[in-house]
Amino acid sequence: MSDCTCHDHGEAPAAAAAAAAPRPDWDTYFMDIAHVVKTRSNCSRRNVAAVIVKDRRIISTGYNGTPRGVRNCNEGGCPRCASNAPSGTGLGECICSHAEENSITQAAYHGISTKGATIYVTLSPCLMCSKMIVNAGIREVVYDEEYSVTEQTRAILREAGVVLRRLDGYRRPRLVRWACLLPCKRSRPARSARCGSQRALCDRAARALGR
Ligand SMILES: [Zn+2]
Ligand SMILES: [Zn+2]
Ligand SMILES: [Zn+2]
Repeated sequence: MSDCTCHDHGEAPAAAAAAAAPRPDWDTYFMDIAHVVKTRSNCSRRNVAAVIVKDRRIISTGYNGTPRGVRNCNEGGCPRCASNAPSGTGLGECICSHAEENSITQAAYHGISTKGATIYVTLSPCLMCSKMIVNAGIREVVYDEEYSVTEQTRAILREAGVVLRRLDGYRRPRLVRWACLLPCKRSRPARSARCGSQRALCDRAARALGR
């Protein structure tokens, strides 16, 4: 006899699924997608993603990593990322593009206007990306994790009329949360700590998931 309980208890499968996982609101929907996009990042330091949305439609996505046609960061493409430079230092030598930068240039590449759009980012934007967001005509930035938003960044966005909003009470998609809990076997202690707290999908998790 089958163990399947989907059809035998008077509850439609769709209704049962809805009870188990409530239908996400728009903010959650787009942020969840951003966390999935993040799994494509090739930066060995930090994985970040952005999703640009207009009229509740995704018009572009981006994740951080080395430029198109350049060896991936996690394959040695960026000497700074591969070095032991502490977090936040040597950024001038880093050749990895940020997620926001890539999502905006991806829209430009395909000739899509970002004017009036909202950008969902898994990590709060840096100063450089904030300037780019302003000049791309994006009107709202919604972020999940906060990474030292400087007063200068806040001031520029505020003065330009761009809303900066943290998605309070947000929980990451189950797949990403589960991946984060995998014990990390990376050799360098600094990298191990980073994997545990900030990487959505470390190399080991990716292997476990068959990616
Ligand atoms: Zn990198
Ligand atoms: Zn780099
Ligand atoms: Zn940035």
